[in-house]
Amino acid sequence: MPKDNEIAHYKMLVAGNWTNSANGETIAVQNPANRTIFASVPRGDAEDVDVAVTAATKAFEPWRKEQPRARGRMLLKIAEKLEEHAEELAQIIAQETGNAIRTQARPEAIMTADIFRYFGGLASELKGETVPLGEHLLSYSRREPIGVVGAIVPWNAPLMLAALKIAPALCAGNTIVLKTAEDAPLCILKLAEICQNELPPSVLNILTGYGHECGAALSRHPGIGKLSFTGSTNVGKEIMRTAADRIVPVSLELGGKSPNIVFPDADEDWVAEGVSMAMRFTRQSQSCTAGSRLFLHDSIFDSFLEKLVAKTDALKLGDPLDEATDMGAIINEKQFNRVCGFVEEGLETKSTRLVTGGMPPSDGPLSKGNFAIPTIFADATNDWRLAREEIFGPVLVAIRWSDEEEVIRMANDSHYGLAAFVWTHDIGKGLRTAHAIESGWVQVNQGGGQILGQSYGGNKQSGIGREFSLESMLDSFTQKKSVTVNLEAGHG
Ligand code: NAD
Repeated sequence: MPKDNEIAHYKMLVAGNWTNSANGETIAVQNPANRTIFASVPRGDAEDVDVAVTAATKAFEPWRKEQPRARGRMLLKIAEKLEEHAEELAQIIAQETGNAIRTQARPEAIMTADIFRYFGGLASELKGETVPLGEHLLSYSRREPIGVVGAIVPWNAPLMLAALKIAPALCAGNTIVLKTAEDAPLCILKLAEICQNELPPSVLNILTGYGHECGAALSRHPGIGKLSFTGSTNVGKEIMRTAADRIVPVSLELGGKSPNIVFPDADEDWVAEGVSMAMRFTRQSQSCTAGSRLFLHDSIFDSFLEKLVAKTDALKLGDPLDEATDMGAIINEKQFNRVCGFVEEGLETKSTRLVTGGMPPSDGPLSKGNFAIPTIFADATNDWRLAREEIFGPVLVAIRWSDEEEVIRMANDSHYGLAAFVWTHDIGKGLRTAHAIESGWVQVNQGGGQILGQSYGGNKQSGIGREFSLESMLDSFTQKKSVTVNLEAGHG
């Protein structure tokens, strides 16, 4: 990731070269924990997109012809190098995203190496099938790469989300042009530097730039054969509309407002710990899978909240680079103000009550950065704006329920369907609920993050397609071709 000069300007990776944008303009990168600008990256636009896609198109033929296991070995080598650089990557993530190094940035860097290792090991699984059509015909299918993948990622787990596109796309024989999020480009540029040492030039291109310029130009470029997008539902809809013009396949990993359902037999400390984890407080809840609608059974409503508040209040907010910090800062001032707006609305809503948290401090060290404090509103209703919209900040709403059917109906009353969490000792109830919930992923009695090997993705407006698995690589980054051979031709 070569720096241009002393002001920490970084270049992007286009056509095998570290370059500035054709227009010469830059985007400032700010540290969310202290609001200082510490780096800049090129403001790529349509011209840079064109150079990158043209180079990736040229690189596609030789790359697709490379033996799959040879491609896999390159990814495994990248995994090794990522492990060696994990600490450096973690520091970059913490600095540009505001995510705490111990609870989020370091695990993300380690997970990224695992992603490359997982997909590197799958290269020989790009198999087709034979179809029994009778003795006179040989019918088989091939899993072929699609071409140049256009990938766009958000800032909340930038390195991991980029790896989830780069590793399977390349393993399957595609080349890729990936646009980073404007707020968190640096860790991906470092990843590109590591990849570049192991890959042929132009197989991987990384653009930095704004969504409406660089991202939009990438999504409509005629050289793109597949669009893979992670981000908000509204931008996902735009991407899909653009893709429709050329019938380009799309994968969309979008937003969520996931239910966290606690049954009366689960009024326990470990559940409060799990609910807090599922809410992703240690990521400032800037997670698409955050279990931000807490459905508590009426009989345990207050006692469970007491346990949860104790866990929440114990979280230490502060410098993301401090090992003692549990929870860092919100990515930028715009998001920070948006989160504060939701908290303000909560405070003004007479029918709900604030259980913990509230508006961020206006003085002291935390006021120097975008530090939102974990906040819980109780006695909310499921139709309240705060219970319907993705806040993408540490604001949890607790809703009462008393009947199993009622809670499932409320859980499903959302245009999102990404994740869900169910807490109970009764396995029958737990699984009945898991099966009834309309989302792509339900966890029973745990609140962790995605697991490699297990397909992950949303239902309803939370997305289309899956990531994290062999199935996802085959479905999202290959196209199936059938070949039919007449074995009796010429045998009159
Ligand atoms: P966003 O949609 O604003 O931006 C995501 C990316 O799209 C950025 O790189 C941005 O520059 C780009 N972009 C913006 N406008 C564009 C346009 N018109 N054309 C092409 N690209 C454009 O989202 P965000 O605020 O960066 O991220 C938060 C959102 O991402 C949340 O809704 C969250 O739930 C979602 N998310 C989903 C998952 C998942 O796996 N389902 C994972 C992480 C984040």
